Amino acid sequence: IVDEAFLKSQIRTVPDWPKPGIQFRDVTTIFENPQAWRAVMDSLIHRYMNIEFDRIGALDARGFLMGSTLSYALNKPLILFRKKGKLPYHTVAQDYALEYGTATLEVHADTLQKGDKVILADDLIATGGTLLAASQLVSQLGGQTLEAASIMDLPDLGGSRKLKDAGIPVFSLCEFE
Ligand code: 5GP
Repeated sequence: IVDEAFLKSQIRTVPDWPKPGIQFRDVTTIFENPQAWRAVMDSLIHRYMNIEFDRIGALDARGFLMGSTLSYALNKPLILFRKKGKLPYHTVAQDYALEYGTATLEVHADTLQKGDKVILADDLIATGGTLLAASQLVSQLGGQTLEAASIMDLPDLGGSRKLKDAGIPVFSLCEFE
């Protein structure tokens, strides 16, 4: 299991990006560091290897990298939750709130079977809006979100609380204030 202090030390913080006042937690430094990336993925693989579930749901775009690795290691189907307009086949869509305005997440309408248990993966939980939208798409298609997995949680922004209140268990490898 990855050491939280080590993991946090390997994540780059970029001040005032993408807007003044935002401290962006940059995980490209994890992807560039095999020791850290392996520790992250080994921790997640270890958490889910003895759990019964059906699919890994990966969130556009950094969540794709986590979801892909989990899918490969655990031999589970990988399903992609994408920003609007990227998926070619029939989709279902869910709008969600951003700080300014809204965004839309889509998934292929045939990507789940009713009753499927899904593990969702994204790099970071801020307001929780993105993972909540993905879990609503899972529900729309008759599935169930077993857990939402992330590398980082920003608990002060209330997202993990919001997800738990909506009945979505949350797992994060580290927290930033
Ligand atoms: P939320 O929907 O929870 O408010 O925001 C989380 C989404 O925005 C995730 O898809 C995540 O990739 C992205 N995001 C927001 N803030 C950050 C950040 O500081 N660092 C990274 N790596 N992603 C962020």
